[in-house]
Amino acid sequence: MAKLYFYYGAMGSSKTANALMADYNYRERGQKTILAKTNIDTRDGKNVIWSRIGLERECVLLSDVCAMSEAELRTYDAIIVDEIQFAKREQIDFLAHIVDYLKVPVLCYGLRSDFQLNLFEGSERLLAIADELHEVKTVCWCGKKATCNARYNEHGIVRVGTQVLLGANDEYIALCRKHFLEGKLHGEDPVGLK
Ligand SMILES: [Zn+2]
Repeated sequence: MAKLYFYYGAMGSSKTANALMADYNYRERGQKTILAKTNIDTRDGKNVIWSRIGLERECVLLSDVCAMSEAELRTYDAIIVDEIQFAKREQIDFLAHIVDYLKVPVLCYGLRSDFQLNLFEGSERLLAIADELHEVKTVCWCGKKATCNARYNEHGIVRVGTQVLLGANDEYIALCRKHFLEGKLHGEDPVGLK
């Protein structure tokens, strides 16, 4: 039975690598997939999904998927979408429609919350309506599970600003909730000396 899946995690949790592997596994079995990403994320060239472990594949944009006819969409065995947090609520509802009426499974990968711990629009809708939620885990510098995406620059953690900041000099790091709230980007003592 087709389902709507949401694989969520913090920055650096290899969500993109997981998306590319899922796509590969379908294709290896001779099945036909659509690999897509949301329009806002065009940092690595328009139509490429790139993972920091070195995997890369061409893709289409989610808006292209939403513009396809039902007859065409029906010919696919799975639809895989990366950076789903940037999707609009209506786009998630359209993906749910594909699952429910065209019986095509849709696998979505993305962040749960932003650098202020607010849900992204696409993630909020998926948390509400997805058939299956799967956490893709990564760890904080302290070893605990990292669930928060901290934005930081040379002055430390950044608490205010716009939700999406592509192409800026600020960077992101995944922290556990405690260290996110404390604003501790790294430990003070070398590991093992405490
Ligand atoms: Zn921590």
